[in-house]
Amino acid sequence: MNQAIDHLETINRFTSTANEKEGITRLAYSLEEKEAKQWLMNSCEQLGLIVREDAAGNMIARREGKDVNLPAVAFGSHIDTVYQAGRYDGALGVIAGLDVLIQLNEEGVETDHPLELIAFTCEESARFGVSTVGSKAMAQQVDKAALCSLVDKDGTTFTDALAKVDLSVDAIECAERQPEALKAFVELHIEQAKQLERQGKTIGVVTGIAAPHRLFLVVKGETSHSGTTAMEDRHDALLAAAELSLELEHQSIMEKDWNTFATVGTLHVVNGAMNTVPGRVEMKIDIRSQYVHSRNRIITKLKQKISAVQKQRGVVIDIEHEEKTQPVQMNARIRSLITAICDEKGLSYLSLPSGAGHDSMNMARRWPTAMIFVPSVDGVSHHPSEYTKEEDCLVGIEVLKETVVKLANKDVFLS
Ligand SMILES: [Zn+2]
Repeated sequence: MNQAIDHLETINRFTSTANEKEGITRLAYSLEEKEAKQWLMNSCEQLGLIVREDAAGNMIARREGKDVNLPAVAFGSHIDTVYQAGRYDGALGVIAGLDVLIQLNEEGVETDHPLELIAFTCEESARFGVSTVGSKAMAQQVDKAALCSLVDKDGTTFTDALAKVDLSVDAIECAERQPEALKAFVELHIEQAKQLERQGKTIGVVTGIAAPHRLFLVVKGETSHSGTTAMEDRHDALLAAAELSLELEHQSIMEKDWNTFATVGTLHVVNGAMNTVPGRVEMKIDIRSQYVHSRNRIITKLKQKISAVQKQRGVVIDIEHEEKTQPVQMNARIRSLITAICDEKGLSYLSLPSGAGHDSMNMARRWPTAMIFVPSVDGVSHHPSEYTKEEDCLVGIEVLKETVVKLANKDVFLS
């Protein structure tokens, strides 16, 4: 078996699940994650790397360059998973990074810049409801007070969870790294969607990472008896919410060229009953795009629709809460390095946005960052049947390696 695929199997032995059918569960700050990290640290030490765990629980393994004063070229992904996850999300990028270092050692390649493999912790929000904690801490985006208030479904606080794996939430900000510490960050990840497969491409070159604009709406109508209230007398909160939902679908179809998606993920009829006209509905809306202007067009149309529906149906629609995250663009220079590598090797590729969030999103706010995608069979992810073909994993590793080696040349400038 190929060494990288073998290592992927090894890291996936660190799971709290009992059998293959249940997939992999390696939650953030769990003992399984700690053990996986320990295995990785041992593997890196055997390669002669300088290995450490930072204050947030990220693992960093450094291979010195010819000039130790140059900023490092970093690469990696996350080692935690959701509940009953697949075997590739996160783990592939970490194992790929390990394999790049093994290959460079075997080939005796020396680089100008130091290289660093980073295995992030707590990328998934599965345990505590917050995502990408490790990379947020590294790029100084972490909100310590908010973290301290978190509790998992078993009642363990974020603070206690860290203490159990010998970390302290008080020190989490010490994981911050200065802009001059890194030259670039590159993450190999599975696509978790069907674009590459559908278009028969091997490599995805990520253009940017979409971010959500979220709204929490409360629709206030009038609760009344379903048997005695004539249709024309009703102020049905659910029908008003339904109109808004369909408008969102329509508007996101209009924004198709921008890959902007609008979703009503939660629609709750408060005190709903079969014989009652809904009087109050709460809805949660997620509008995601790589482009703020596209997202904003949908928001404008939604707000126009809200005014119209209020008048037509005699309901009141309040926006109780609204939050937006800025999308990030991947570094254009690194993207063109990656596409040039694909051209050289005769690999087919597709430039595409990422709809899902990743650690690269936080890294990009501080360092030139890029992502390489490999195809997910049927687009399945966060499920035991998540799968990427072995040959696609290996091609991804090859492209990652070439990218890292090019970036580690002191004559390659990013700005
Ligand atoms: Zn991931």
